[in-house]
Amino acid sequence: MKGATALVTGGSRGIGRAVVQRLLADGYEVINFSRTAPKEILPGEIFESVDLGNAKRTREAAMDWAAKKDILNLVNNAGMIHVGKIEDITLEQIDDMVALNMVAPLLLLQAVLPAMRAQKFGRVVNIGSRAGLGKSGRTGYGGTKAGLAGMTRTWALETATQGITVNAIAPGPIETELFTASNHPDAPQTIKIRESIPVGRFGTPDEVAHAVCMFMDKRAGFITGQLLYVCGGMSVGLTG
Ligand code: NDP
Repeated sequence: MKGATALVTGGSRGIGRAVVQRLLADGYEVINFSRTAPKEILPGEIFESVDLGNAKRTREAAMDWAAKKDILNLVNNAGMIHVGKIEDITLEQIDDMVALNMVAPLLLLQAVLPAMRAQKFGRVVNIGSRAGLGKSGRTGYGGTKAGLAGMTRTWALETATQGITVNAIAPGPIETELFTASNHPDAPQTIKIRESIPVGRFGTPDEVAHAVCMFMDKRAGFITGQLLYVCGGMSVGLTG
């Protein structure tokens, strides 16, 4: 959308990077909040180093940009995972995941909501996970992603009459640098996961970005409070 400003978290690599690139291609100006700068800051992109696990810093950075620009498009993409069985997961790890996966999206929405309400237009897309349906070792990750899906529905209802839509995407396994680092393409476990995906392959960051941009579209005003699985059919069932 020409001239519109979007705030994307975790836009320096992986899925977030693909979202930034796609939004720029679609004509948005994009503010990228991540800790580390991308390899290349693209024309139309503004990078701000923010640790979104730090609530004070997150609120300050968001209020600062909200005072400078009408941010009518928000993509809460940054997320983190600690994997651990019930008996091993620590409160510190749970706190980390709550802070990044749930609190940061709330703080960012609080900062940009006044402009959305004033303009009677807003698009919010939260990136959850298929693990929100339940996955072994994902007490904190699955719990916070399911929590984000629940917050999405509440935010959708609270803003529904104001031209604002709030939706979520739950990706299945997407081949990002992070995913490949912990799932080597030739490892037996990786092959097993790949073979269990109905479409027979992992997803790409661009495919998630496409779904994000569908929700961001001006023409998507009748879609709100929805959770879309971008997972190659895994949320429906596994093959084999
Ligand atoms: P990556 O780890 O590749 O990228 C995460 C991005 O978030 C990076 O840009 C990172 O930048 C940023 N980030 C992480 N922690 C913080 C922080 N404390 N403050 C600011 N920025 C932060 O992740 P993916 O692209 O794989 O995942 C993106 C989203 O998609 C996440 O929410 C994830 O849970 C979700 N997802 C991913 C799946 C997959 O298979 N890849 C499957 C299901 C869901 P930096 O470290 O520089 O801050």
